[in-house]
Amino acid sequence: MSQPFSLELSEDQLQIQKWVHDFSEQTIRPAAHEWDEREEFPWPIVEEAAKIGLYSFEFISQAYMDEGGLMMPITCEELAWGDAGIGLAILGSTLGLAGIAANGTAEQLFEWGPQCFGTPEKIQLAAFCVSEPDAGSDVSSLRTRAVYDEAKDEWVLNGTKTWITNGGIADVHVVVASVEPELGSRGQASFIVPPGTPGISQGQKFEKMGIRASHTAEVVLDDCRVPGSCLLGGKEKLDEKLARAREGKRSTSQAAMATFESSRPAVGAQALGIARAAYEYALDYAKERRAFGRAIIENQSIAFKLADMKTRIDASRLLVWRAAWMGRNGKRFESGEGSMSKLFAGETAVAVTEEAIQIMGGYGYIREHPVERWHRDSKIFTIFEGTSEIQRLIISRAISGIHIK
Ligand SMILES: Cc1cc2nc3c(=O)[nH]c(=O)nc-3n(C[C@H](O)[C@H](O)[C@H](O)COP(=O)(O)OP(=O)(O)OC[C@H]3O[C@@H](n4cnc5c(N)ncnc54)[C@H](O)[C@@H]3O)c2cc1C
Repeated sequence: MSQPFSLELSEDQLQIQKWVHDFSEQTIRPAAHEWDEREEFPWPIVEEAAKIGLYSFEFISQAYMDEGGLMMPITCEELAWGDAGIGLAILGSTLGLAGIAANGTAEQLFEWGPQCFGTPEKIQLAAFCVSEPDAGSDVSSLRTRAVYDEAKDEWVLNGTKTWITNGGIADVHVVVASVEPELGSRGQASFIVPPGTPGISQGQKFEKMGIRASHTAEVVLDDCRVPGSCLLGGKEKLDEKLARAREGKRSTSQAAMATFESSRPAVGAQALGIARAAYEYALDYAKERRAFGRAIIENQSIAFKLADMKTRIDASRLLVWRAAWMGRNGKRFESGEGSMSKLFAGETAVAVTEEAIQIMGGYGYIREHPVERWHRDSKIFTIFEGTSEIQRLIISRAISGIHIK
C-alpha cells in the first residue's frame, strides 16, 4: 500500500529539515565563498557533516527509506540552500550509492553501501562514472569496455570517464561499461571498483564555472581488474539480460538509466535550494534598497519579479515532491514526472538567480554578495544528470508514445 500523499511534513521530516538547515546555516553558508574561491574539495566541512552523522550511510539510508519519500529532497534542498558546491561534496557519494542500489543485489548494497561513506574517523567517498569524452547524453555509445576473464573470475576494465563528481578521489568508483558494444546501452553493466584497486587513476581535474567546491575530474581505467563479485547484479542476471537483448526482447533495465531515474528529484531539489536562497536574499534586499525615495520593492516591476520567482520555486517543489513520492511508492513515471521535476527546478534556478542579480543591480554582480555565485552554481542543473533537452525528450516520448528524436 502506498503512503497517502500529503504536503504536510511529518514530525520526523520536520526534525530532519531543521537539523540539516541548521548545519547548512551555521557551517556551510559561512564557508561557501572561501571554498568557491579555493576550488577544492571542502574536507573540513565534510568532516563536520560526518561528525554529526549527516555524511553517513545510515542517514542517507534513513532518508531514502522515508515512507513519504520526501526526506531526501528536503535534505538536498537545505544543503544546496547553504551552498550547492559544498552540498554536492556532501551528496556526491549518494550518486555512487544510487548506482549500487539501482543495479546491485541486497548483499552488494550491504557490503559496499557503508564503504561509500566510511566513518567520521576515516571518511570515504564514492563516484558514479558514466560520461565519457564522446558519450555524455548518448549513453548508448560508451566506449569503456569490460571483458570477462573466466579463468580468474575477474573483469578487466579499460576506458576513460570524464566530468566525474569525486572522480579519482573517491574510494569506491561505480563504473558503467560496455560488455557487448553492439547491443548499445542494453549491452552495458555496472561494476564496483574497490578502494586501492590498481589500474584506476585520476586524469585531468576540471576548473568550473560553478559548484567549484565539488571535485570534478577524469577517471582513467587501464587494465583495471576487479573480482567477478564486483559486477552489480551478478553474472547470471547479466547473461540473462544480454540473451534477451540479443533476441531483441524488451529489457527491464539499463544500468545508467535506472540510476538517473531514481536520483532526478534529488537533483531537482538541489536546484530548488539555490533558487530559494537567491529569492530570499533578493526579497530582503528589495525591501532595504531605496531609489527615487522609496524601497525598490514598491515598484511593481521589482515586486512582480519576486512574485514570479516565488511561484516558480513553489511549483518546482511540488514537482520534486510528487516525483520523490512516486519513486518511493513504486509508481510508474508515466509522463516523465522525474524528468519534469529536474527540468523545471533546474531552469527555475537559472532564471531565479538571474532575476536576483537584476534586482540587486551592481551589488548583484560583484563577489561581495553571493547571488553571482548562486547564478554560476545554478547553471549545472540544466546540464548534468541529463540536460534540459534530454529531459524534454524523455517527457515528450512518455506523453506521445512516439520515439521523438
Ligand atoms: C560539474 C559536472 C559534474 C558531472 N558529474 C558527473 C558524474 O558524476 N558522473 C557522470 O557520469 N557524469 C557527470 N557529468 C557529465 C554530465 O552528465 C554530462 O555533461 C551531460 O550528460 C551532458 O553530456 P555532454 O556534456 O557530453 O553533452 P552532449 O551530449 O554532447 O550534448 C551537447 C548539447 O547537445 C544537446 N543534445 C544532445 N543530444 C541531443 C538530442 N538527442 N536531442 C536534443 N539535444 C541533444 C544537449 O542537450 C546539449 O545541449 C558531470 C558534468 C559536469 C559538468
